[in-house]
Amino acid sequence: MNIALIAHDKKKNDLIQFVTAYQSIFAKHSLFATGTTGLRINEATGLPVTRFQSGPLGGDQQIGALIAKNQMDAVFFFRDPLTAQPHEPDVTALVRLCDVYSIPLATNMGSAELLIRGLEKGLMDWRNIIKENGEENGK
Ligand code: PGA
Repeated sequence: MNIALIAHDKKKNDLIQFVTAYQSIFAKHSLFATGTTGLRINEATGLPVTRFQSGPLGGDQQIGALIAKNQMDAVFFFRDPLTAQPHEPDVTALVRLCDVYSIPLATNMGSAELLIRGLEKGLMDWRNIIKENGEENGK
């Protein structure tokens, strides 16, 4: 599965702790991240992470583009609900695309626990069927 990892600055430590705790599961998947988040996760865990631009410089939109192309299977986006973000429109757009394409999205530690455990149990294997059908239909 292709997994996107994003955390606003005040949530980066939480996401790093989370990925470290579930490192053995994340290691079985392909990880993508916005610039700084990806760097921090790679430094903390050694896991390979494909990095995009930093969020405020377009990284959220790059991940959104992969969602629109049916190439992202789950998103862990630890948002900071208490700090205004300069790229709020991009954040909203990314969340919206997750809803458009029914991509599981965890925006906090509580839902992230459920998502990663569900992923490990195979509860997201339906994504493989969707992707196979999309490829057959040229999407
Ligand atoms: P960053 O971007 O990982 O480059 O900090 C995340 C964000 O703020 O959207």
